[in-house]
Amino acid sequence: MQHPFHEDYRERPFWWEDYEPQTVELHDVPARTRVAVIGAGYAGLAAAIELARLGIEATVFDAGEPGRGASTRSGGLVVGGGASKTPLLARAPSAERGAALGAEADAAFDLLSDTVQRNAIDCGWSPTGRFIGAWSPRHLEAMRARAAKVQNDAGDAPLRIVEPGEQSAEIDSDFYHGGMVVRRAAHLQPALYYAGLRRLCEAGGATICARASLEALRRQGAAWSLTTARGPCEAGDVIIATNGYTGDVTPQFRCRVVPLRAYMVATEPLPADLARSLSPRNRSFTDSRRIVTFFRLCSEQRRLIYGSRVKWRDISPTEMAPLLHAGMVQRYPLLAGSRVTHAWTGNVALTLDEQPHLGRLEGLHFALGCNGAGVATMTYLGQRIARRIAGNFARSAYERVPFPSSRLYSGKSRWFLPLIGNYLRARDWWDRYAPRGRTSR
Ligand SMILES: Cc1cc2nc3c(=O)[nH]c(=O)nc-3n(C[C@H](O)[C@H](O)[C@H](O)COP(=O)(O)OP(=O)(O)OC[C@H]3O[C@@H](n4cnc5c(N)ncnc54)[C@H](O)[C@@H]3O)c2cc1C
Repeated sequence: MQHPFHEDYRERPFWWEDYEPQTVELHDVPARTRVAVIGAGYAGLAAAIELARLGIEATVFDAGEPGRGASTRSGGLVVGGGASKTPLLARAPSAERGAALGAEADAAFDLLSDTVQRNAIDCGWSPTGRFIGAWSPRHLEAMRARAAKVQNDAGDAPLRIVEPGEQSAEIDSDFYHGGMVVRRAAHLQPALYYAGLRRLCEAGGATICARASLEALRRQGAAWSLTTARGPCEAGDVIIATNGYTGDVTPQFRCRVVPLRAYMVATEPLPADLARSLSPRNRSFTDSRRIVTFFRLCSEQRRLIYGSRVKWRDISPTEMAPLLHAGMVQRYPLLAGSRVTHAWTGNVALTLDEQPHLGRLEGLHFALGCNGAGVATMTYLGQRIARRIAGNFARSAYERVPFPSSRLYSGKSRWFLPLIGNYLRARDWWDRYAPRGRTSR
């Protein structure tokens, strides 16, 4: 196959064509602040917005230009509790805990929807649902069982099974064996959503200090003494919201979150008819593979945005782009001639129980562990951790269990990732291609 790169190809997030995160005004690091928030992604900004609303002064510190972490790099796919996945390796939660986590995911979805709409954040918010493709006939059976479990009496079913014969109404592809539609799902332009949160944060009175990496942190009586790249600061409370970029300065968190790169590409603008046919209902898409693929149309610009993880060692977005293009063409053969204009990567944070966490550890507040899906979740965690500091101790399901660590991971070498990746890939292969009647699920 010829190489898939457009002549205008750039190794940077497509979303930055609309909003490229940069510092307009470089604020001095204050000598003192009531709450220091480390990390200016969705979680950090949402925490600062909520603190300001509650009348608590806060300063947000970021190591680089605020927004250049994962928060302006995602696919912008958002989903409520109806689509929660069974953990891949960790123990599945009990039915009761599963329901509590689902309720939190719904609350996160509602918070995001409300934040965007109430503040008129112009970010292409499209609550048009998600189609999850069944990777194999067996996976469709598992979806059927799950949909039957969550039917409710109101007839307002959160999930709807799509039979293979009906699939073309959802996606112009016969790659999947049917699937299901999750109603409570949306997509947005993640960088424009970030820009909206940043405006809210600044309008609320919180200061964002760019290029002020936290380099050392020391307890000093009831307060914290921070050393940043641009000077010291004393804070009453500290929130760690560094997710997939958590570093050595907080080893107690670094050993609890495993950074993992996710990769994405954007195609050149597509002919209008082709673009419409890819997603007739403007849904977003994922599938039931363990190594997940996620994609959606950016309908205004008629581009397909496609992401996955194909290799388990870190390679450049330009090296990854042809592999992603090949996966995209498997799903949509009509895109074989469509070239890639942008490819990019960013860090997500995995946790050992595959759940997000918030709470307090060794005196530090934290909101961490998006596990690959954090547009709604990290916004929600940021808001919750702020409320906790303000004295609202109504406990979220995300803080009811300890934040796990393992003797096998100190936060440095991620030797186990290729092993896990190959294991998951083998199981995916088996589920799709093994003789019928056998499955690894
Ligand atoms: C390619 C890709 C695709 C994705 N797709 C989706 C999707 O479709 N849907 C979805 O829901 N989620 C998706 N995600 C995940 C989502 O983007 C993240 O979960 C979310 O943005 C995390 O927000 P955050 O605020 O927790 O962290 P981030 O936005 O990553 O911010 C963390 C910040 O901490 C800062 N920091 C680190 N260390 C320090 C320090 N010592 N001092 C000061 N600052 C520090 C970093 O500079 C960074 O800005 C995707 C992620 C990637 C990378």
